[in-house]
Amino acid sequence: MTGHAQDHHHQDGHRDPPNFPIQEGRAIWGFLLAFLAYWLSHRFVYVENDPGALARASARGERVEWSSFDKFYKQAPTLFLQPSNHEELIGILREAAASNQTVKVVGSGHSWTPIGLTDGVMLNLDKFNKVLSIDASAKTVTVQAGIRIRDLSAALAAHDPPLALRNTGVLDRQSLAGALATGTHGTGIRYKIMSADVVALELVTAGGNVLRGSRRDPDPAMRDMFEAAVLHLGALGVLTEVSMEVVEAFSVIKRNRLLPLNTVLSTLPALAAGVDHLLVWFIPYTGRAQLMESLRIPPTKVPPTHDWGDSRKHCQNFGSTSGDEASAAQ
Ligand SMILES: Cc1cc2nc3c(=O)[nH]c(=O)nc-3n(C[C@H](O)[C@H](O)[C@H](O)COP(=O)(O)OP(=O)(O)OC[C@H]3O[C@@H](n4cnc5c(N)ncnc54)[C@H](O)[C@@H]3O)c2cc1C
Repeated sequence: MTGHAQDHHHQDGHRDPPNFPIQEGRAIWGFLLAFLAYWLSHRFVYVENDPGALARASARGERVEWSSFDKFYKQAPTLFLQPSNHEELIGILREAAASNQTVKVVGSGHSWTPIGLTDGVMLNLDKFNKVLSIDASAKTVTVQAGIRIRDLSAALAAHDPPLALRNTGVLDRQSLAGALATGTHGTGIRYKIMSADVVALELVTAGGNVLRGSRRDPDPAMRDMFEAAVLHLGALGVLTEVSMEVVEAFSVIKRNRLLPLNTVLSTLPALAAGVDHLLVWFIPYTGRAQLMESLRIPPTKVPPTHDWGDSRKHCQNFGSTSGDEASAAQ
């Protein structure tokens, strides 16, 4: 299909965005090239950091480098350490403070910014990864804050009765502390960011003092500390323990739709209110948007999802997934 770009001028001078029809031959080549770029980048660029290997190399006196997940931001710290308990952690912090060294904690390096980088002492809390307690009646879980979200979700799903985090981002390989640090959120207008589910936490300050605060802490100073530390940007100390609200386990069914962008923009509040989760991908130069809508249903025998790739396999579909509804709706 070929055609001319349409340019609509309004009397007030406002101009609609051009609505270029898709040229199918080019679209297929574009898709193949995009797929190749995606495959190459995941094969050769998005190689996850291995904090354990970095800590061992650093202990041997080798120079190590930490990088963000896309290798965009990199830095070599003086030391890369993985403390396994409070005593070790406090020792490291006090020694660094005495020698005036900056300390930064990194989780999986999935931030899009250099927020976790330092040329001082870099810590990773992969060894602070235990589920400390699950209270099914209060619907809370207490964990060490270095736990990866996928491991926490797996532990909650394996609990009897099965439980789940209320909402997570697209990926689940981040550390819980790292996700809370940056205000990580999922989709869905009925769901808040992950930090909103934190009810209590433990923070070790740069001087090695252990602070514990909670949402309803009787001590106003610790309540303030809690409020600041639930979304801490890695700037307040080392987050070591977190208690969070959880929900009963659920399954998700999804559908994908292609709609005219104008329709999506003019009905966005209703579209968002009609489902539990909504992702909208604007497709430039086509005047269309891809909608990924999900509904929560009672748990089924579908295996728990681990990341977006897996979830596409495990989610059941509702409604049509292949129909291009754009032309019908235009
Ligand atoms: C492909 C991709 C998809 C994503 N999808 C989403 C999404 O859907 N929704 C969303 O909101 N975000 C999303 N993100 C962003 C991601 O969730 C955040 O960047 C998150 O902070 C990454 O966690 P991390 O463990 O990798 O932390 P890092 O990137 O390693 O660190 C992030 C911050 O946390 C601090 N930190 C880590 N651990 C501790 C600790 N124990 N104590 C104190 N400070 C600590 C670091 O110092 C730093 O400031 C995505 C990122 C990527 C790369």
